[in-house]
Amino acid sequence: MGRCRWVHDDDVPGGKFLVPGCMNRAVHGDDADCQCPDDPETVDDRIAAMQAKIAELEASITELRGPR
Ligand SMILES: [Zn+2]
Repeated sequence: MGRCRWVHDDDVPGGKFLVPGCMNRAVHGDDADCQCPDDPETVDDRIAAMQAKIAELEASITELRGPR
């Protein structure tokens, strides 16, 4: 539990993203159980997961902002 953590970066929407990140915590917040896989990931896997997570966050932020 609590394997992934927030990394703060002003260059991404929202200013932070989860590393390595899992949907449970991304959706339900810091109190949710971490569902990141136990297997060690390669750096490429982590980068791909981070990019996917950033895309998810961008999509959710766009959704939260609603239609303009
Ligand atoms: Zn996690």
